[in-house]
Amino acid sequence: MIPQLVYVALRSHGEETYPYECCGVLLGHFADDGVKTVTRAARCGNTREDSPQNRYNIDPKELIHIQREGRERGEEIVGFYHSHPDHPAQWSVTDLAEAHWFGCSYVITSVEKGKAATTNAFELMGSNEDDKKFVDEPLTVS
Ligand SMILES: [Zn+2]
Repeated sequence: MIPQLVYVALRSHGEETYPYECCGVLLGHFADDGVKTVTRAARCGNTREDSPQNRYNIDPKELIHIQREGRERGEEIVGFYHSHPDHPAQWSVTDLAEAHWFGCSYVITSVEKGKAATTNAFELMGSNEDDKKFVDEPLTVS
């Protein structure tokens, strides 16, 4: 579940960075049954300089900082988001290869000609790098 405000914010982030990818972290809570509630999105700088239009990378230092700040507020990292400028809101082979947070949501927004279009969520399932996979996850905006 993601609040309308956060949903709008991550979509507009993709419009702002167009034609480059945006990226960020989703903070919130995991319920005992694994259901995630997003409370906040933290924007990150895209550190990819080689190919920022179809790649993203979050600086590990920035990620640690966000994680620490979240803990102080009682929040956990529950997901990540990024945009696909002029590409469908579907995960790529690279997205899967670079995803390492099991149980987290990976939210992708397609940005067509500068306007946010579709937003999809995928959960990273599995237990290790060999059996990991993305599974479609319903995105409930409240
Ligand atoms: Zn991607």
